[in-house]
Amino acid sequence: MEIKAIRGFNDILPDEIGKWQFVEETVREVFEGFGFDEIRIPILEKTELFIRGIGEATDIVEKEMYTFTDKGGSSLTLRPEATASMARAYLEHKLFTFDPVAKLYCIGPMFRYERPQKGRYRQFYQIDAEVFGVANPVVDAEVILMLIHFLRQVGLEKLELQINSLGCRECRPRYREELRAFLSKKSFQLCEDCQRRLQANPLRIFDCKVQSCQETIVDAPKVSDFICKECDHHFNRVKEHLSMAGLEYVLNPKMVRGLDYYTRTAFEVVSYDLGAQNAVTGGGRYDNLFQEIGGRDIPGIGFAIGMERLISLLPKNKGLKRPLDLFIAVQGKDGKQDAFRIAHQLHLERIRAEFDYEEKSLKSQMRRADKLNARYVLILGEEELKKGRAILRNMANQSQEEIPLQELVQILGRKILRD
Ligand code: ATP
Ligand code: MG
Repeated sequence: MEIKAIRGFNDILPDEIGKWQFVEETVREVFEGFGFDEIRIPILEKTELFIRGIGEATDIVEKEMYTFTDKGGSSLTLRPEATASMARAYLEHKLFTFDPVAKLYCIGPMFRYERPQKGRYRQFYQIDAEVFGVANPVVDAEVILMLIHFLRQVGLEKLELQINSLGCRECRPRYREELRAFLSKKSFQLCEDCQRRLQANPLRIFDCKVQSCQETIVDAPKVSDFICKECDHHFNRVKEHLSMAGLEYVLNPKMVRGLDYYTRTAFEVVSYDLGAQNAVTGGGRYDNLFQEIGGRDIPGIGFAIGMERLISLLPKNKGLKRPLDLFIAVQGKDGKQDAFRIAHQLHLERIRAEFDYEEKSLKSQMRRADKLNARYVLILGEEELKKGRAILRNMANQSQEEIPLQELVQILGRKILRD
C-alpha cells in the first residue's frame, strides 16, 4: 500500500514554495533592519521546559503536546512554540553577559496535537520574535511597530491591531478572584473544559470557542478595571508610543492570549479575510517566564506569526513561482552535447535552463518548453551551430532572432532582467 503523510502534517510543494521564500526573505530583511538576530533552537526539548514555561492549565500543555519517552527514559516534547526554548537558550548560553538586551527571531515548525482542519495543523510553522532583558514599555511599542511593518511589507492590508493589558503578579490575582466569583454563579452555562478552567485559570475562559461560554463571559469584569497603577502607567506609555508612530489600535479588554506566562501588554493582529481562525499573530509581554524556567528575573516580550495563515492571506502577485528562463531545444543528433555545455554555463550564471535528456523530436521539445512555461527557447540547429549561432525565441510574443552563442549569457541576462 502506498504510504501517505500523517494527518495534519503537510508537504509544501514547489508551486507554493515561492510564497514561503518570499515571507522568509521579508522576515530577515525587516527584522534584521530592526536590529534582531536569528537564533535556531532544537525541535525537541525536555517536556518540563514547556510545562513550566507555558503553564499547566493551558490548552497546549493539557492536550496539545507531542510528548514521548525516549529510549533513555526521558520525557521529551516536540516544541509547540518557540518562546520557552529561546528563553532557555538565552539563559543556558548566558547571552545576557554580552549585553542584557537580546533581540532574537526564529523561523520553523511547531507541533501541536490539535484536530486538523483548514488553518489548523499538527505541524505548522511560526515566525517568532522576542526581546529579552527590557522592562521598558517603549520596547513593547517597538516590537508591535516591527510586526505591523512586516505584515504590511508582505502585502497584508485589512488588519486590525488589538491590544490589552493583562496586569501583573500584583494585580492579576485579585482580578482572577473577581472573575471566578462572577463565573461561579453561572458555571452551569459553561462547557466541561471551562468548568475545569474556572478552578485552574478562569482567564482562559475568554479564549474558549464554545458559543455558550462566549455568551456567559460577555459582561464579566474586565481586567483593565483591575490593573494596578504601575501596569496602568506601563500600558499608557505603550499606547502613547504607538500613537506617536501613527499606528492605530483597538482596545480589546477580552483578549487574554492562550499562554499563562503573559503579563501586561498583550496584542493580536486580526485579519478580516480569515473567517473563524482569524488571528494571524499574537504576542505580549511575559515578565514571569524566565523565573518559571530558570530562576532569574528577566523581562521579555515577543510575538508568533502563524505562517500558513499568513501565506493564505498574501496577495496573489506575491511570491510567484520562479519561471524557467530558457529551454534548449536540439535539432538533429549532434546538438545534445552543446545543449549540456550551454545549460551548464547558464546554471553557473544562475539562469534557469532545461533541456531534454533523451532524444526527442523538435516538436515534442517545443511542447515541453511550452508546458514548463519557459520564457525563452534556444533552438540549436545543425547549420547555425556550425557558425556558432542559434535561434532564440521569445515565448511570450513568439518573436525570434539569430544570435551568436558566445553572447548568449549576456543577451539572456539582459532580456531576463528587462522582462
Ligand atoms: P488559537 O487560539 O487559534 O488556537 P493560539 O493562541 O493557540 O491560537 P499561539 O499559540 O499564539 O496561537 O500561536 C500564534 C499563531 O500561530 C496563531 O495566531 C496562529 O496563526 C498560529 N497557529 C497556532 N496553532 C496553529 C495550528 N495548529 N495550525 C496552524 N497555525 C497555528
Ligand atoms: Mg491554540
